[in-house]
Amino acid sequence: MGKGIFTLLVGCMYAGKTEELIRRIKRFSIAGYEPVVFAPSNSRNRYGLGLSSYSGLRHEDVYWVDNGVNGIKEMAEVLRERIARNGKRKVVGIDEIQFFSLETYDVSTPEGSVFKVPYVWDFIELVNDLGINVIGAGLDKSFRGYPFSVGMMFLMSMADELVKLHAVCDVCKKDNATHTLRMHNVPGEGLKYASWDEPLVMVGSKDSYMAVCKDDFKVVGEPKSSFKESLKKVLSF
Ligand SMILES: [Zn+2]
Repeated sequence: MGKGIFTLLVGCMYAGKTEELIRRIKRFSIAGYEPVVFAPSNSRNRYGLGLSSYSGLRHEDVYWVDNGVNGIKEMAEVLRERIARNGKRKVVGIDEIQFFSLETYDVSTPEGSVFKVPYVWDFIELVNDLGINVIGAGLDKSFRGYPFSVGMMFLMSMADELVKLHAVCDVCKKDNATHTLRMHNVPGEGLKYASWDEPLVMVGSKDSYMAVCKDDFKVVGEPKSSFKESLKKVLSF
């Protein structure tokens, strides 16, 4: 048996990533593969994700684990147990994989180049080595409009199949949303755009998020680059 494939589904919020993950997992299920799906426990309350998001899968096939290293170890233990029970004919799903991408470790080459490797990659690679396919789904960008994490950049590069999904833009209603816009509801002032310097993940806040296209995306306080400013002079008409 050859190695399994790593498929990564990315996009902004509301792009249907979880739906697509479940659709693909169900197809494997029809073909006789047993699903083992992981989701980070921190997203369960924040986004109101519950088992209903995983409808069509058996409750016992969905595991909520911590998004840190311990959660990744737990994934390995769960999969080991499931394989010991009834064999390797499995498909592994990892939802909200951006949260699992946050913790990385450094590997250095003899010449001193340093690469940041997300711990979750080690799990994915070893599962693929067992001949088992892994399907991940997650945000490619943060509310800043930049890569969500170095770990996500790594995973996007390592994926055997990379699928970018779009949402419908909440502002212009075109099917071209690639960005997640974070807004804050400030009492008395209404909705305010988020600032660049805010934390990547705001726990317990009452943020509201919208899926928007490039034209309708905004974040306050984006860092200025002198190189970009000089290019802008060249390319302004
Ligand atoms: Zn738009």
